[in-house]
Amino acid sequence: MSKYEPVSAEVVAALQTALGAEYVRTDAETLEKYKTDEETDHRYHHLPEVVVWPGSTEEVAAVMKIANQYNVPVTPRSAGTSVSCGAIPVYGGIVLLLERMDKIEELNTEGMYMVVEAGARTVEIQEKANAAGFLYAGDPCSADSCLIGGNIATNAGGNKAVRYGTTRDQVYAIEAVTPTGDIVN
Ligand SMILES: Cc1cc2nc3c(=O)[nH]c(=O)nc-3n(C[C@H](O)[C@H](O)[C@H](O)COP(=O)(O)OP(=O)(O)OC[C@H]3O[C@@H](n4cnc5c(N)ncnc54)[C@H](O)[C@@H]3O)c2cc1C
Repeated sequence: MSKYEPVSAEVVAALQTALGAEYVRTDAETLEKYKTDEETDHRYHHLPEVVVWPGSTEEVAAVMKIANQYNVPVTPRSAGTSVSCGAIPVYGGIVLLLERMDKIEELNTEGMYMVVEAGARTVEIQEKANAAGFLYAGDPCSADSCLIGGNIATNAGGNKAVRYGTTRDQVYAIEAVTPTGDIVN
């Protein structure tokens, strides 16, 4: 049995204040879209109660603080290519989409690293590295559509993993938002 509270009008209002009303949706069509990822067996599907699109780390933190204050569950979601129901909001609540945070902020050729936002597409990271004469070795077969945050969360492997390791072997540092809404490095 869920220990969470339902998403009330007060929660939706708090999310709208934090993110802007256009980035907080409760219409049936949107909720329907995010009831599953690549899982096709409808027995595992579950509707969220609200879907949010934060645009920055600070906004992600604000969503997490609101979720804690009102005791509602949050399911982060990148591209939804998970094939193990990972992005399904099994307790309802908030689906938190990272796709607005899609920037590749820096490619440092001297240090041989890139700084990217959680919602950067894996294929774009690969292409940007290639164009500068480098290799980004993370290469799940879903690279055309998945996002780097999803790769990190699942420690995605793929075609190059035997030689170069999985996603965790490609990561130097992470700025993350904790479940309580703190930003940590
Ligand atoms: C055709 C196909 C091929 C695939 N090939 C491979 C492969 O070769 N290797 C492999 O390992 N996997 C593969 N996968 C599985 C999937 O693509 C990977 O797990 C991928 O890393 C998921 O990324 P995503 O952006 O779609 O994340 P999502 O599916 O959206 O999320 C995956 C999980 O991570 C969590 N999450 C997502 N983003 C964040 C975030 N920013 N912060 C915290 N948690 C987050 C979600 O809650 C969920 O639990 C494949 C899938 C498909 C459909």
